Order: sequence, then C-alpha cells, then structure tokens
Amino acid sequence: MTENGSSPQRDAPAAPLLRVVPPETRLSAMARLWARVVARSSFVPEGRSTARAVLENALRALVDALTSDSFDPTRGRAIGRALVASHISSPKALGDSIDLLGGRLLDELGIDDEQAPRRLAALLGQVATGFTESLRDAALGAAEDINKAERTAWRDQQRKLHRRLQHALLHDQLTDLPNRAQFTGWLAETLARAPVDARLGLCLVNLDRFKAINDSIGMEKADQVLLAVGNRLSAQAGRYGHFLAHLGADTFAIGVARTNDSDDVAKVADRALRTLADPIRLDGMQIPITASAGIVERAAAGAQATELIRAADISVGWAKTDQDRYRQGGRWALFDPDRNAAEVRRHTLTAEIPGALARGEFELAYQPLVRLADQELVGVEALARWNHPVHGWVSPGQFIPSAEDTGLIVPLGLALLEKACAQAAAWRASTGQSLIMSVNLAVAQIRTPGLLASITDVLRRTGWPAELLQLEITESAFIGTDDDAMDIVHGLADLGIGLAIDDFGTGYSSLAYLSELPVTNLKLAASFLRDLDAQTKTARSNLTILPALIKLSHDLDVSVTAEGIEEAAQATHLKGLDCDYGQGYHLGRPMPADNVTALLPQR
Ligand code: C2E
Ligand code: MG
Ligand code: MG
Repeated sequence: MTENGSSPQRDAPAAPLLRVVPPETRLSAMARLWARVVARSSFVPEGRSTARAVLENALRALVDALTSDSFDPTRGRAIGRALVASHISSPKALGDSIDLLGGRLLDELGIDDEQAPRRLAALLGQVATGFTESLRDAALGAAEDINKAERTAWRDQQRKLHRRLQHALLHDQLTDLPNRAQFTGWLAETLARAPVDARLGLCLVNLDRFKAINDSIGMEKADQVLLAVGNRLSAQAGRYGHFLAHLGADTFAIGVARTNDSDDVAKVADRALRTLADPIRLDGMQIPITASAGIVERAAAGAQATELIRAADISVGWAKTDQDRYRQGGRWALFDPDRNAAEVRRHTLTAEIPGALARGEFELAYQPLVRLADQELVGVEALARWNHPVHGWVSPGQFIPSAEDTGLIVPLGLALLEKACAQAAAWRASTGQSLIMSVNLAVAQIRTPGLLASITDVLRRTGWPAELLQLEITESAFIGTDDDAMDIVHGLADLGIGLAIDDFGTGYSSLAYLSELPVTNLKLAASFLRDLDAQTKTARSNLTILPALIKLSHDLDVSVTAEGIEEAAQATHLKGLDCDYGQGYHLGRPMPADNVTALLPQR
C-alpha cells in the first residue's frame, strides 16, 4: 500500500505527543511531489504554482492535525474539501494522493513516531471522506444548477406558451383583433365599472353576402377582404376611442363605453358603414362590399354582456330584412325590446304548432260574405284562430306567417280546410242552406305536390261540392310562379272550385292575373275603402279606380268582393258601383260556427 512497503498501522505505544515539526524545505519538497502526482489526474485551472500552494497548505494542515496535542482526525475532512475546492477533484487524484501521503509522508517529513502512522491513517480516511462529501455536494450543486436552469427555461417556455395561448384565446387568428371572448370580457368589465346612471352601446357590423364574395374570389382573397375591413374599422375605432373586436367570420363589433342616447351609437354605425362603402382594393381588383349593422344602446344598470351582444346580433338580422333603412351603402337597425319580445313569442308559437295541431287547438271563425244588392248572406270566409291554452285566442297574424315560413301551413291548412268543409256540410244538412265556403290557401300550399289529391280527398270525405268551395289566394302566389304551380291552379279550377284573388291592391295589383288565370272572384283590399269621403289624393284616386276595377272585372266575368266594410255608407257606395259582395265588421264580424247557424233560416 505504500511505496516503501511500510505499513501505516505500526503499533503505537501510549502517547507522547508528536513534537516533530518538519522543516519548511521538506514540506515544500513533499508539496512539489504531491503536485506532480495530482497533475496527472487533475487539471487545476489556476496553474501549477497555485496547485502547489494549495497542496502545501493542505500538507501543513495535515501535519498540524497529525502533530496536534489533541488529535482530531475529523480535521482531515476540511483538507479533503479544500482539495476539491481547488479543483483537485478526480477520484484518481484522491487515490494517488492517499497512496503518496500514506506511503511517504512520514518518511519524507522525517516523522518517526509510533502513533503517527495510525493518526495518519485516520486523518487520510477523513480526507477521503471530506473529499467525497465535497464531490457529492458539488455534484448535487451541479445537478441542482442543472435542475434550476431547466426549471427556469421551462418556466420561461411555459410563460411564453401561456402568453401565446392567452393571446390566441383572446384574439382573432386572422385579424389579430380582440375576439368574442375578449369583447365579452370588455363589456362585462365596462358594465361592472359603470357609474349608476351610465349608458353604453355596441354596434355589430356584418358584411352582406360574404359567402358570395368567398365563393367568387376564393377563401384566401376573402380573408384579405376581412383584413382590410378590420383595418378600416380599426382606424375608425382608434380615432374615437371605441373598442373594436372581430367576433368571427364576417362580424365585427364596436363597443362604445359611454353614450348619451341611441343616436351616439347610430353615428358609430353610420361611420362604420360609410367607411366600408368604398370597394376594397386587392391585387388590382376592386371588390365592392356593403355591410349591415345592428345596434343596441341602453342603461348599463341591469345589462349583461352576452345579452347585449345577442341583442345587437338580432338587430343585424333586422337590418338585413328591413329594406327601408338604407344609409349610404349600408343599413342599420336599433334593437327594440318590444319587437324582440313579439318575435320570441312568434318563434315559440311556431314551435308549438305541431303539438297544437295534434291536440286540435286550431279553430275557425266564420265571417259573413254578403251580397250587396240585397244584403243576403251568400257565404262565409273561414278564418283561423288558435285556442291557445296559455295565451287564449291567438289571431292568424301571429302564427300564419311563421307557419308559412316553416311549411307547417301545409298540414295546418289542410286540417282547417277539412274543418271548414265539414262545417259547411253540417249547415247544409241542418238548414238546407248552401253557403259558399271561402278558405284561404297559402302560397306554400300551392307549391306542395299532392295538393289537388288532398283537396279532392277532403271534398270526398266531407261531401262538400267543389262548386261551393272558394279558395282565396294572394297575388304573391303568382309571382315567379312556375308552370307546375300554374297547372295546380288550373287543376283546382277544373275541379269546379272557385278561385278568389285575396287582398287585391296590397301587392303587385296586376290585372293580368284576371285574364290569365281561372279567377272567379276579386277581393278588393280594405285600403280601397279608406277615407272614401275625405279629400285626400288617395281617396280621390280610389274613387276613380274602384269603378274602373269593378267594371273591368265584370267584363272578364270575375265577381268583386269589397273587404273591410266598416260603415253603412261604404256598403251603399259600393252597391252603387255595382260591387257584387261585401265583407267587413259592418256586415258581420268573424264569429264562431254557432253564431252563423243562428243567422241561417232554420228548417
Ligand atoms: P284575409 O284573408 O284578408 O282575411 C280578412 C281579415 O280582415 C281577417 O283578419 C278579418 O278578421 C279582417 N277583417 C274583416 N273585416 C274587417 C273590417 O271591417 N275591418 C278590419 N280592420 N278588419 C276586418 P284575420 O282573421 O286576423 O286574418 C288575417 C289574415 O290571416 C287573413 O287575411 C289571411 O290572410 C290569414 N288567414 C286567416 N286564416 C287563414 C287560414 O286558415 N289559412 C291561411 N293560409 N291564411 C289565413
Ligand atoms: Mg282571405
Ligand atoms: Mg283578405
């Protein structure tokens, strides 16, 4: 184990303390030797002389501990640590050092004491312990440093990712404008911070026919259009300090944090629509765009962010359908809670129609059709009524339009037709009276295949003759009518069913129908009778038009019914013009079947 073969474990007689302090020269020589040994296995960045100085110090400490009066082997640990701290830290350096010191130290320094070898062994053991401890600490420190570095890098990345994610969550990918989530947040915050009497508004801008633009120029260019729109609106919002967001697709929102009244937001809408009125220039192309806007303006108190957005959204829909609100290339509509409530009610009612049909909640009121010449009751018009379990009697104006839009009018219309014919047959059976049963036929019904067959079935089932059935069709039924629909109208006439043009004068008022279609009756809209005795221009023109219309109809073998007769004078006037029939509150309101029964002469 030692170079000279001597064992450090020489028996030590009881202790006279080591008093041998080696001369400095021997210490230096030993240090040089040691330095040479460790140089083979350790790189000391500070250089050889530093290494020698370190080792000399270590040696001195070692000798000091070795020769100390109160021997404490643990002092070796500090020496081991000092070596590692001075970059003498390879395991080989430790091994070589222990070998060198254990083998030659005592001899080289001329220490010849019985206790010395054992003390040296104990000390060197502690040097090794201090050395390895220090190495482990350094390694742990390094690992810790690595961990720390990794953790910081990771945290940095997380933070960046988080920021990116946060940005993505709150911005539109295409325009990088605040998105719906951020806009909703902004609104909620604005509402939360608003003083009690504050008002605020928002304006939703939606491009018209964006799908068509998309289809015609392609998605990439359409994206460019959206970017350009975003830029224009952004410039404007920036100028006025409004909050612009891109809610998605072709919808942008402008939030106005402080308003006095709806005019403030109307101005915002006007400006937004105006800034979009110029075509978008893209790669030498000019792409014309228009937009519609929905605005909502109200007191901040009690308002909710999502509700405000929904309200503005509804208004955009109105702007698109309300054609009369043209404003410099675009339209806007202001949210109206009453209108919305009515629409909501209509939607709800529409959804309830199928169930109501199944439960038999639809009924008919019958309004007298009177021959003006002798005031005779010649027929009735069947008018739909909904006996709603919650709302009571609901008038057709509230459900017929939605029923037409949804196609529900087809089963509903047929059910009502059957009810009307059955009622007419019952009256004839009980009174012998053959009234004309006039039933409204919706446009959607005419366009439904199988209409002729279903009507034939109804007539067969109820036993009501086709000749006593009159179907009322509005003019709009004939706009852009294809041949199929024309065939159906002719088919109805061929069955012997009478055809009336309903509400003539409210639509296109084309007299061509009278000659081209198998029409038997013309129902003049109530508007012809308005203010007949007044001196207004409409009244005067109606006074001239009425006789001409009646004459023309008669020439074409078409009878005329005047609707909306509310006064005796009107009835007299029309009778004088040779108008055939009349209908109106003056002649009889729509009434339940039993009331009509009472009007009929009993057998
Ligand atoms: P319409 O076919 O023109 O029916 C006449 C409407 O004028 C009825 O309204 C009637 O109550 C009302 N009226 C009658 N006389 C007067 C009057 O002197 N003054 C005023 N101001 N109004 C009068 P109603 O019952 O509310 O029906 C409205 C419309 O709903 C009908 O107009 C018709 O277009 C439609 N409708 C009603 N029932 C049905 C139906 O079963 N099927 C279809 N497709 N439409 C129906
Ligand atoms: Mg009618
Ligand atoms: Mg009518």
